[in-house]
Amino acid sequence: MAKVYNFSSGPAVLPHSVLAEAQSELLDWHGSGMSVMEMSHRGKEFMEIIHDAEHDLRRLMAIPENYRVLFLQGGASQQFSMVPLNLLGEKKSVDVVNTGHWSKLAIKEAKHYAKVNVVASSEDRNFSYVPAEDTWQCDPNAAYLHYTSNETIGGLQFPFVPTPPEGVPLVCDMSSEFLSHEIDVNRFGLIYAGAQKNIGPSGLTVVIVREDLLDRALRITPTMLNYRVHADADSMYNTPATFPIYIAGLVLKWIEEQGGIKGIAARNEEKAGLLYHTIDSSGGFYSSHIETPFRSKMNVTFRLRDESLNDSFVSEAKKNGLVQLKGHRVVGGMRASIYNAMPIEGVKSLVHFMQDFARQHG
Ligand code: PMP
Repeated sequence: MAKVYNFSSGPAVLPHSVLAEAQSELLDWHGSGMSVMEMSHRGKEFMEIIHDAEHDLRRLMAIPENYRVLFLQGGASQQFSMVPLNLLGEKKSVDVVNTGHWSKLAIKEAKHYAKVNVVASSEDRNFSYVPAEDTWQCDPNAAYLHYTSNETIGGLQFPFVPTPPEGVPLVCDMSSEFLSHEIDVNRFGLIYAGAQKNIGPSGLTVVIVREDLLDRALRITPTMLNYRVHADADSMYNTPATFPIYIAGLVLKWIEEQGGIKGIAARNEEKAGLLYHTIDSSGGFYSSHIETPFRSKMNVTFRLRDESLNDSFVSEAKKNGLVQLKGHRVVGGMRASIYNAMPIEGVKSLVHFMQDFARQHG
């Protein structure tokens, strides 16, 4: 089997052992005589799968009792509408931080329902930093404060959790850094994440929401977009994404085996450190435009000094079994997504390739 190191931003690499386990029970899950794909979502087998997944997620993240975990569909993009529809209540405005592509899309969608105050933006310097929190113009009457903790395309990550004004819930798009380092869930009103980076396959979106926020939906909120409806039905109002939930469950068990989120976080630090060191010690052959404290440990973006070498970088890398390194078309350059499931060997292999490539073309 030809296996490559896949640096895709999502859908992304999954732990090899998880795929092998899924393969081994693909035709017959635990003696049920059925594939998970064929099971009724309300049957006892699938109920066990979804229950275990929630239980394991709660334990790994130490999610407090007064938070609900929802397994939804529609991607993180659907949360751009669900968040304002559900949390606006009697309020008229929301606060947002703009740190790049995904922040902007969240802002665009929220504008359909609310007055959107951009309390801080790093657009002035091409989204290369997170504005200092003491400069944010937060409104104590905002329905919530929204931010994107890791900008997948830009390669920018918040090194801190913001503190909104008293009583204003903090909402976070955590899609591309979910489960990658420890967080205190108590700091948040709502967290959402598309699964296809650190949790499992696409088709599943995980939402963690504080219970007191479940009853603020606008009257126009469609049933399928109402958190309360999904919470009351334990994510079974309609057919959930059964197979992705099953794979997510296997990934959560794998995280536990890696020493939990703490163990994963230490490895993520090491992986990102190797790559940024390679960039910084290349004598300018490679460069990162993100200011050092805000460089993402999940999506490492960089440029070649001589951009005419971009195509050969990508094709030579591919010949070495290193794939999906081309940056997003919006920002160009290169991007190595090194989510939880990327083994350190993959990063070392990329580092060697980058050093060789620089020697040959420098
Ligand atoms: N937010 C972030 C930070 C993302 O990285 C992505 C997907 N790359 C999205 C939102 C959109 O996710 P989806 O495609 O699941 O709707």
